[in-house]
Amino acid sequence: MEAVVFDFGGVYTASPFAAAADVGVAVGLDAETAVTLLLGPYDLDTDHPWHRAERGELDLVQCRDEVLAHARESAGVDLDLWDLFRVMGERMDGVRTEVVDATRAARAAGLRTGLLTNNVLEAREFWRPLLPLDELFDDVVDSCEVGVRKPDAAIYRLALERLGVNDPTSAVFLDDWPGNVAAARRIGMAGIVVGEDPTPALAELAALIGT
Ligand SMILES: [Mg+2]
Repeated sequence: MEAVVFDFGGVYTASPFAAAADVGVAVGLDAETAVTLLLGPYDLDTDHPWHRAERGELDLVQCRDEVLAHARESAGVDLDLWDLFRVMGERMDGVRTEVVDATRAARAAGLRTGLLTNNVLEAREFWRPLLPLDELFDDVVDSCEVGVRKPDAAIYRLALERLGVNDPTSAVFLDDWPGNVAAARRIGMAGIVVGEDPTPALAELAALIGT
């Protein structure tokens, strides 16, 4: 293995998807419907307003308005992205130090490290200060800056190219959303799904890269 590429939300922090599910359950939806209404069908790259915001095509205020209107029309409920961000903020108890330590260990072992995040422009000032990005990563790819998002194969290829990795099979990708891991595997990368407890995923990573 030459490189490790990490997702941000749900890997270094608690899961945004669990928060989205709970916001929906509070208005009477099942978890899957809630996540799909708020964040789009996340195994796909679509024109759902959240996906457009993650590609940098839509500002967050307009995205929130479109999500509200869509949820009212299709499910008769008020689903507000501001509620999602509030719940995420309430649950935010810093970053998972064990994942930060694993990132340092990978880099110390001579692997290149990358961060590959689906994100929105307006979140930059909140998430970027949570990690010492320059110390941990050789490169950071943010979907809203490059105009392409996971699970589009192009963004994984871009991340590898920017790390100088020619062979996808010599890189491993970690993400909390299984569909994003599946997409990385489809281009040949090794993939690890990170759960609510990151310990098993980090053990798998350590075994794979010999740290
Ligand atoms: Mg994530």
